[in-house]
Formats: sequence, structure tokens, C-alpha cells
Amino acid sequence: KPTVAIVGRPNVGKSTIFNRIVGERISIVEDIPGVTRDRIYSSADWLNHEFNLIDTGGIDIGDEPFLEQIRQQAEIAIDEADVIIFLTNGREGVTAADEQVAKILYKTKKPVVLAVNKVDNPDMRDMIYDFYSLGFGEPFPISGSHGLGLGDLLDEAARNFPEPSEEEIEDDVIRFSLIGRPNVGKSSLVNVFLGEERVIVSDIAGTTRDAIDSDFISDGQKYKVIDTAGMRKKGKVYESTEKYSVLRALRAIERSDVVLVVLNGEEGIREQDKRIAGYAHEAGKGIIIVVNKWDAVEKDEKTMNRMTENIRDNFQFLDYAPIVFVSAKTRQRVFQILDTVKRVSENHALRIQSSILNEVIEDAVAMNPAPSDKGRKLRIYYMTQVQVKPPTFVVFVNDPEIMHFSYERFLQNKLRESFGFEGTPIRLLTRKRS
Ligand code: GDP
Repeated sequence: KPTVAIVGRPNVGKSTIFNRIVGERISIVEDIPGVTRDRIYSSADWLNHEFNLIDTGGIDIGDEPFLEQIRQQAEIAIDEADVIIFLTNGREGVTAADEQVAKILYKTKKPVVLAVNKVDNPDMRDMIYDFYSLGFGEPFPISGSHGLGLGDLLDEAARNFPEPSEEEIEDDVIRFSLIGRPNVGKSSLVNVFLGEERVIVSDIAGTTRDAIDSDFISDGQKYKVIDTAGMRKKGKVYESTEKYSVLRALRAIERSDVVLVVLNGEEGIREQDKRIAGYAHEAGKGIIIVVNKWDAVEKDEKTMNRMTENIRDNFQFLDYAPIVFVSAKTRQRVFQILDTVKRVSENHALRIQSSILNEVIEDAVAMNPAPSDKGRKLRIYYMTQVQVKPPTFVVFVNDPEIMHFSYERFLQNKLRESFGFEGTPIRLLTRKRS
């Protein structure tokens, strides 16, 4: 999927435009704090184009001076995006700060689309003429608060989307990423994978041109480790900011089949770990919990069980995720991670025949009859799998209103009991049979 970034000096309306384009997306993990708050990255669509959108204005760059912040946000846009929307404010005209942003954007070969915001009605269109002087061609008048002109702007952005790269077509490769707080040992684990195996490290000029992904083969299976922040050479100032590493993690998650949520066994679980795991769950990816630095933990025969209980307690929404205890330092069980990645990615892409599915559902309903509400009884007609990655099922009923959350949960559990689905979330939708 192509990525579009919005840049511009403060107060031109970046987050209003971001929210307009993204629309209201419903979070499926309501109980994880911070997952959707302060969103700066989201998938979005326009007509038949799907893309990711970044609001660079939401990435605050510490205590740097004002112009330096704007400069770094523009550089993030250049680093991360395929197309850049350069946003300005028609009511204030071209300012010195706009010219600063323009100067940085001149350096990139990536397409830049210039938008003039706060043009709230057609009489105000004259405001845009000033903006030709920025040197990015025709300015697009828009109004974030009224939702005007966004269609034309997005059409122009979409015209500049790159051709889908080959990378997205390869299907015999399992793509995974490692996410977690700094210093939990993500890079060390990757180094073990790459060091021990025939390495075909390459600078992939793929969808995310600046990402360094690494390919390797283990036990005859091809893998691709997706680059995340902190795993590549550090250099730019913004790479150490929290929002930027969240952004990088989200982008890596999006490109993965399976995500390793890496914890530091020595330190136990932190609030930030939960938030990070929440992103992966919400994205519907296969998930494995990896407890690293297990060598450094003082243990008796109960330690592993206690840690497991602690993880299950803290990550209730990840009850399907297997847990692996490893040490990047001693390499203990590190390669067990890859076996688990392979298994989980198979489950993530598992397709169940309708006939088998419906036998399971019939049995389930016989055992635990469907609920009634206001004198009406829920009738379950049949179930079908509509999607993989993650496996998504639709159950057709007479009246979706009578379906209870608890009964949905029961059916989901039956699916898990029957088919496993270890490591992958599954989704169940209820629809009225028409
Ligand atoms: P990242 O920020 O998550 O990529 O973490 P790094 O891979 O850079 O590791 C952070 C620190 O933890 C380094 O000093 C590593 O040597 C150390 N470390 C990584 N894995 C292990 C492990 O399994 N055991 C121990 N004792 N130390 C580890």
C-alpha cells in the first residue's frame, strides 16, 4: 500500500485534514489505553485506492526550536512517504515557515501535492494564487472543516502512487517483524537469525524505499524480517522520539504476516508493552510473545509458569498468542521462534471448507442453543469464511439484533477448539440472511 504524508507548519490544519480523510475508524480493542488516541498513522481509502496516511504534525520533536521541528517533520515525510501533501493556510497566505518547508521538499524526488486549506467557499478561491510561488505547481484549494476539495486533492495524490512492487506479489515468503520497547533485544534476535543462516541481506527498494528488510532461509523456508525503528543505524534526531518509533512499528506491523512482541524477561511487563501488543492485535496479524533475556533471570522450576500467568493476566486480548522463552545471548530456543512463526503464519492464512465449518456450528448450536430476546429466537442458518489473514467468518442469522456478545464469543471459542488457530486472531461477523 502506498503511503501519503501530510506536512506543513503548525496551525494549517493537518490533523483536521488527517481525520477527514481517515474518517471514523472503529477500534476493536477498546480496553487498551492509548492505541487510538493521538493517532498520527492510519489506513485510509479513496475511491478504489487504499493507502496509509501519516500526520507528521503529530510527531513532536522534543525541545528543538520551531523551525527545526518543521524541518524534521518534513524529513520524516520524505523518508516515509510515497506522496507528500504539503499543506498551507489560505487565510494567512504564504509565510516564511511555508517557504522553509518548501525548501526542504525541493530536495526530494518524491511527488509533492500542494494544498491550500481553509478555502471554505468558492468566493475565496482567489486566495490560492499566492501559493504558486512556492514552486509546486497548481495549488489545490480545500476546506478541512467543510470537507471541500479533498476529492480532487486525493485524485492528484493517487495519480502519483507508485506501481505495486514485486515484493507484494511474492507469496512463498513469510514476513515478520519484531516490536517492543527499546533494549528488549530485538536487534540481537535478528542478528542471531541472520548470523546463523544463509543471509541474503538486501536493501529492498520496495514499497517503503528506506526500509532495510532482511531475507533469509531457514529449514527450507524463506523469511523476511521487516525493518523497524531502532533496528537500523541510528542517525537522525527524530529516530529516538516515541511517536516516530510507534509510527515505524505500525508500518512494520502492517507489512508483516506475523509479529513478534518482544518482552524483556528480566524486567517483566510494562504498560508500554501492552500498548505495543495492542497495535499488533488490532491490525489482525499473527502474534507470538517472545520473552527474551531468559538467561539473565534467576529461575526455579516455577518461574516460567509464573511469568506465563503474568503475561496471560496482562495481555488478556492475546489469549491466542503462543509464548516462547528465549535468550539472544545464549541462543537458547531462538530457532524455536522460527518454527512458531511458520506455524502461526499457516494458521493466519488457514481456510476452512464451508461444509466442515457448518458441521462444527451445528454441533455447537445443539450443545448450547442460540439465545432469545424479546420473545424472538435467534436462528443460525450457516457460516462461511470470507477472508484469511486473519481468518474472518460470517454467520448468517434471522436477526442480528438478537445475537449476544457472549454467544458470539461461544461460537468463536468453538472455532478455536475445532481448528486451533494458534497465534492468529479470528473475526466473526453476524449478518442478516437476505
Ligand atoms: P533492541 O533495542 O530491542 O534492538 O535491543 P538490542 O538488541 O540492542 O539489545 C539491548 C541490550 O540487551 C544489548 O546490550 C544486548 O547485548 C542485550 N541483550 C539482548 N538480548 C539479550 C539476552 O538474551 N540476554 C542478555 N543477558 N542480554 C541481552
